[in-house]
Amino acid sequence: MRIHSSINLNPRSPLVLDTRELPRRPGALRTVNRVAPAPADLGLEMVGVPEGADLSLDLRLQSVSEGVLVSGTVTGPIEGECGRCLRPISDSLSVTIQELYAYENSTTDETTDEDEVGRMQGDLIDLEPALRDAVVLALPTNPVCRDDCPGLCPECGVHLDELPADHSHDQVDPRWAGLSKLTQEE
Ligand SMILES: [Zn+2]
Ligand SMILES: [Zn+2]
Repeated sequence: MRIHSSINLNPRSPLVLDTRELPRRPGALRTVNRVAPAPADLGLEMVGVPEGADLSLDLRLQSVSEGVLVSGTVTGPIEGECGRCLRPISDSLSVTIQELYAYENSTTDETTDEDEVGRMQGDLIDLEPALRDAVVLALPTNPVCRDDCPGLCPECGVHLDELPADHSHDQVDPRWAGLSKLTQEE
């Protein structure tokens, strides 16, 4: 769910798009190419974009009759932990953004819900909610260091990559030693 705040946007914030240079004439086009630091908590618990990492914004802002259509890609690094072996993962992620932001008091503004269509605040667009949605959708929910990661030996916790193929734990677990003694006494 997106959180819409009524706090005035800061035009200098790197994830705020300023459309003052974009004529409000359908078809008018501007591009935005910039590097912005990633906001905190961009991602999921196990994997996400580190705070402050470089996000490359490669966007097109296009005037349409009711607002501004923002489309393009945002690319950045991701870091996380393998869900099977806990090794650190670093990779990169590129997400596609395609989002309409309605002019204030336009018909779209008055007839749609804010969850369906984004809103402009004056000439400004807050890209962050759409970016968060796109990043969360694109991230793997079960990140792995590689597709065939075998994980850890459930007995000793050593990575199965580092163990011989015939690795096993034949010795009786001390927790069961007492039980096997009982069995022998019977
Ligand atoms: Zn792994
Ligand atoms: Zn083991």
